Amino acid sequence: MKDSQTQKLLGVEELRQMIDLYNPCTDDYLFVLDFQTDSYYISPHARERFQLPGCFFHDVQNNLLKVTFPEDRQALIDDLTDIMSTDRTAHNLIYRWMDTAGRPVWINCRGHLVRQDGKPVYMVGCINEIGKKQKADNVSGLLGETSLQQYLQNYTDVKPSGYFLRLGLDNFKSINAKLGIEYGDMLLRRMGDFIVHCVRPGQHFYRIMADEFMVVDFHGSTSKDAMDLYMEIRKILDQYVEENHYEAFVTVSGGILMCQDVQNFTWSQIMKLSEFALTEAKTLGKNRGYVFKQEDYDAFLKRKYLTQALQQAVSDNFKGFEVYYQPIFHTEDSSLSGAEALLRFHSDDVLVMPADFIEILEETGLIIPVGRWVLHEALRFAKKSQEVVPGFRVNVNVSYVQVMKSDVVADIMEALELYDLQPSDLIVELTESGLVESDTYFTRLWKQLKENGVQLALDDFGTGYSNFHYLNELRPDIIKIDRSFTVRAMSNEYEFNLLSLLSGMVKNLELKVCVEGVETEEERDRIALLPPDYSQGYFFGRPCPQPVFEEKFLHPLSAGGAVRIILDCLGRSDTYSYGHI
Ligand code: C2E
Ligand code: CA
Ligand code: CA
Repeated sequence: MKDSQTQKLLGVEELRQMIDLYNPCTDDYLFVLDFQTDSYYISPHARERFQLPGCFFHDVQNNLLKVTFPEDRQALIDDLTDIMSTDRTAHNLIYRWMDTAGRPVWINCRGHLVRQDGKPVYMVGCINEIGKKQKADNVSGLLGETSLQQYLQNYTDVKPSGYFLRLGLDNFKSINAKLGIEYGDMLLRRMGDFIVHCVRPGQHFYRIMADEFMVVDFHGSTSKDAMDLYMEIRKILDQYVEENHYEAFVTVSGGILMCQDVQNFTWSQIMKLSEFALTEAKTLGKNRGYVFKQEDYDAFLKRKYLTQALQQAVSDNFKGFEVYYQPIFHTEDSSLSGAEALLRFHSDDVLVMPADFIEILEETGLIIPVGRWVLHEALRFAKKSQEVVPGFRVNVNVSYVQVMKSDVVADIMEALELYDLQPSDLIVELTESGLVESDTYFTRLWKQLKENGVQLALDDFGTGYSNFHYLNELRPDIIKIDRSFTVRAMSNEYEFNLLSLLSGMVKNLELKVCVEGVETEEERDRIALLPPDYSQGYFFGRPCPQPVFEEKFLHPLSAGGAVRIILDCLGRSDTYSYGHI
């Protein structure tokens, strides 16, 4: 650079003053490296961001190496060595510095080396963070996440009143995959246009993520206003899709978060809660708006917590799980036939019922190890019970996830052998609804179990589709009539006749009937008119822990007492303290 050699050079002190002057005007970091004094001066705000000893320091190379991410140190040394040993004047290096928390941050450092008589005097330059989100988004034409973040900084002291409307295109990934990224980008641009078209003066809007947008209204607007805006945007998108002959079938969901629902008005909290609102809108079926509700969020957190507790319990050798047993009696002579194994979970000393966790186990696949564990527990229990009640059989519920994603038949046969039990000592309960969902898996499992001599019960009969066709095709050994059917039959003559007819028909097919959920004496008497082969319900005995079951239903028998049915319908709680009935 001839100019710099002939011109009078600016002094380092002047350059430092200039850096200070520019400091409030830019997010980038300006610097001057003085080779004469081996010192370095950088925009003061760099200190808040990076692990620097200060905005001014000596021993430049060593201190720069300290702030440089270890893997990039050699690259920096190489570049500095090269620039010092050649007549290059431009330094342009993309590498990583470490922020104050020690995390790597990508930077682009561009410097200009000023020489005098060929000797380096100083280097002036500018560092910018290339990883930092762009303030504006060139695809949608809207401002980006960083701009929203900056806008919110105006409200750190006083919480505004109004809303956040977080919009997300539904199934955007699959549109990108099917129609290409350019098409996807075009769609995002259109979406940007639609938002611009719909927003009112004073509202702010941003593209915050790949396929998500945020409209912010801090003018005291209500959730209804937010929903109206969402519907307006949705309508324009629908029109667009229609006008383009459904080339891409795209819809939009909207999560609405009211300012008053954000206790801690910070960026992370706003993003977290608005994300929840949008996810909820999508979970509820997409193409709809959802207004954030604290109770829904609490339920979501509770579920998340429970999911973690279940995962922990599985890896902790099933600690916290417990199998309860509910007696099943022969209706004819009130003798004990066996028991149904019903799973329970103890979370923080609270007894959690299957309705709250079976679905989570199914969704996470944990039902596979847990189901196997229940099977082993139940068979061990059956073996022990047979010492008192020969032929005691245990019923185990099997989920459709186990059927589809694991080899249940192998698990069952192995476990039967392990506990030295006959296949007919186990009754596998499968529900009708699961059956409809995954027909072929079920029929295969059904066939294999039958071939192996394991008994099968069709659970919850009367709740789902009640397809009689299945009865003939699958020929379960037992039909379990759900409590809802029983309840209907109690109050309605027509339903009772239907139940009676069904019961007769099932018997003609030589299948056995078990009536579930008999709660009262009245129900017992009415049901006795059918009569079912087996009876189960609170009236005869509630599900209880194994020691309680043994004490109530097995010890009286082992003591030589007559078969007793213990009326258990008075204490309705499922919580038992051991040794205390
Ligand atoms: P299910 O298989 O239909 O089990 C019968 C449910 O009815 C049990 O609920 C039982 O406590 C309840 N019950 C029994 N008698 C009465 C009564 O007289 N009145 C009323 N109102 N209810 C009665 P629980 O134990 O809460 O289990 C609910 C469901 O969770 C079970 O329904 C079953 O589908 C599922 N489940 C339980 N344990 C397991 C398991 O180990 N594996 C799988 N896959 N599912 C299980
Ligand atoms: Ca069952
Ligand atoms: Ca049932």
